[in-house]
Amino acid sequence: MDKLYLARKALGVCIGCGVKNASAGTVRCDECRKEDNDNSVKRHKRLKASGVCGRCLRNKPTPGMKMCASCRILSAAAARKRAAAKESSAAMCISREVDGLG
Ligand SMILES: [Zn+2]
Ligand SMILES: [Zn+2]
Repeated sequence: MDKLYLARKALGVCIGCGVKNASAGTVRCDECRKEDNDNSVKRHKRLKASGVCGRCLRNKPTPGMKMCASCRILSAAAARKRAAAKESSAAMCISREVDGLG
């Protein structure tokens, strides 16, 4: 364990920010715990807002697009796959739709 962690823990200070008091029974303050809980969502939002590709969150998106070039290729391939799967399952659904649902 790292010393800072232990020191903060011993002092009852949040190990996340090191500023606020840790909440009872935990080693983090409320704010850091909250941040922890929605960390991935928040991180995703923050990164996206900072102008990186919304898919890999690493590369710069193509100008005017939400995704970078490589992610666009990947998602186009995935979309084609989905479309193909839909087509084959749609063929099976036709008889049901004809029965009056469509
Ligand atoms: Zn904190
Ligand atoms: Zn990307």
